[in-house]
Amino acid sequence: MSKIVILDENTANQIAAGEVIERPASVVKEMVENSIDAGATQITVEIRNGGISYIRVTDNGSGIEKDDLEFAFERHATSKIRRIEDLEDLSTMGFRGEALASIASVSQLEVTSKTEDALTGTTLKMEGGRVISIHQTGSPKGTSFIVRNLFYNTPARYKFLKRDSTEAGYISDIIQRLALANPGISFKFIQNNRTQLHTPGNHDLLSVIYSIFGKDIAKSVLPVSYKSEGFVLEGFIGKPEIARGNRNNQSIFLNGRYIKSKVITKALEDAYKTMLMQNKFPFCVLHLKSPAESYDVNVHPQKLEVRFVNESSVYSAVYHGVKGTLLRETGIREFEPKTSEIEVKNNPPVNIPLMEPRVNRKTRPETSAEFPKQSTLFDRMPEIPVKIEEQDCNVPGEIEKKCYKETHYITENEIIEETKASQEIGTLKETIQTTEKASLQELLNATIVGQVFDTYILLQCGNNLYIIDQHAAHERIRYEYIKQRHANNQNFSQIMLEPVIIKLTANEYDFVMEKQSAFQSIGFEIEAFGSNTVIIRSIPDFYENSFSVSDFNEILDRWIQTGSAQSDISDETLYMISCKGALKANRPLSKEEILGLIENLCALENPYTCVHGRPVILTMEKKEFEKRFKRIL
Ligand code: ADP
Ligand code: MG
Repeated sequence: MSKIVILDENTANQIAAGEVIERPASVVKEMVENSIDAGATQITVEIRNGGISYIRVTDNGSGIEKDDLEFAFERHATSKIRRIEDLEDLSTMGFRGEALASIASVSQLEVTSKTEDALTGTTLKMEGGRVISIHQTGSPKGTSFIVRNLFYNTPARYKFLKRDSTEAGYISDIIQRLALANPGISFKFIQNNRTQLHTPGNHDLLSVIYSIFGKDIAKSVLPVSYKSEGFVLEGFIGKPEIARGNRNNQSIFLNGRYIKSKVITKALEDAYKTMLMQNKFPFCVLHLKSPAESYDVNVHPQKLEVRFVNESSVYSAVYHGVKGTLLRETGIREFEPKTSEIEVKNNPPVNIPLMEPRVNRKTRPETSAEFPKQSTLFDRMPEIPVKIEEQDCNVPGEIEKKCYKETHYITENEIIEETKASQEIGTLKETIQTTEKASLQELLNATIVGQVFDTYILLQCGNNLYIIDQHAAHERIRYEYIKQRHANNQNFSQIMLEPVIIKLTANEYDFVMEKQSAFQSIGFEIEAFGSNTVIIRSIPDFYENSFSVSDFNEILDRWIQTGSAQSDISDETLYMISCKGALKANRPLSKEEILGLIENLCALENPYTCVHGRPVILTMEKKEFEKRFKRIL
């Protein structure tokens, strides 16, 4: 063991810096918080190389007195508290007096500041925590910090920094949060000479939401204003249609500070229950005000998680505040079962009117000409054409007979029999095997019995009944088709009549620009279109007219989640694209569509499972029916 010594101040500061200053975004956070504490109404942050080589933070706040300037870089130098009791009613973001000393010790720093009363400003230059020069300069009121070459003298920390675009993303996140927390302050964020964000500072939270998330989101939010048990909840929540596949669009502020809170997130999401699909998370910017004694303030500055003394009252305030807005603004009423509905449930199933579904069947058109026009479902897939003419189904009327002969002319008794049988089949489900053995040729030659529940296609061939899940089948077809064309570098694009302009977050924008050619390879022609905004000129040709901004957002969310490291699109994203555009359950199909689906399915190498691994085709032998009906033993 060596001799014990007291570390020199600079070394101590460098070590302390490791705790406070982890990356360029921490510098930005500390500096901007200082600007807010100094009463600034305009704050500009400019960065280059993700903030690693250059960060400038300029404000129009109170400024620092000339005599205080050097002193501000001492450890534990703060103007914000004098003694421990001051912590009780602290209104500033900082108070430890550690940030400036830490930042200065691991960078080349320059600060220019001027107070209202001073005649001139003062510029101080430091390197690795040591003062290099100090001189007077002309400058406007306020403070401007430039931090160059962060961690230049601490290579171990420098090594842990990520790519420039990733670091820039962290900074952008921090600025967005600070802007959402302070609608009264105008924030400007410039990255590599491009203005990424500019908020008006007009005290209007919706304007900040507009600046950050764009017009489409700002148009789809609902105001929240609610008070309960000392809590005040204000802000905006998103309509269900702008929910996303992750929680990135949820910002929660407690007394002006960005926080994470499981209890608040739970209350928010519970309030949306039944309005959102699984794995969809609502948008929100919520400001919660609560008395200081109602939560644990003494948390580490880097930690965002907050502990509330009384969790159930926070839960209740957020839940009711959000739910009230949703009910009022979207007109969605909570489901209250009527007594009669409950009665039906409790009665034996035979009381459910058997005839009702038959009404639909009666309306089934008598000739194929009256069937809904064949959709463009398969028009998009020229490589696997539908060969209806090879079947004898191409003559109107013939189609009728062939495809519906089993179910068409049905008597009342048969209806009852059939219903019983389908209930039986329901209970048999578990005994039906996935038909890995199903002969594809057999499927092609099978008779179409019909479609049940607008979801499953029934085919009969020889002694086998085949049941095909139409969604699973189409999803598999789409996936194989997209994958194959992608692998062959085929051109996927179809030009949109009206290009779509989408506002993204800075992170998403960087991601899209980085992956521009990968997007192109699956048919998306995307170009930069101003600050964090892209224009989509072409979309993949397997999308029909229904393509929307939310489809694109979904692709983006999934791709960011599952394939940000790889240069090409992730398989998970392809699964999602295949699934999204695929034929849904509960959709009646024309016979042409059924035939097309089967032909396309049979052309695949693996038609047996959908991309999520669920079975596509089930089969049941005639013998199994006979056993179940006790015709044979
Ligand atoms: P803290 O914010 O915890 O007090 P810092 O190290 O971040 O500690 O800052 C030290 C002091 O420098 C602050 O207390 C404040 O007096 C002064 N200061 C820092 N940045 C600014 C600024 N942008 N405008 C005015 N004063 C500032
Ligand atoms: Mg500070």
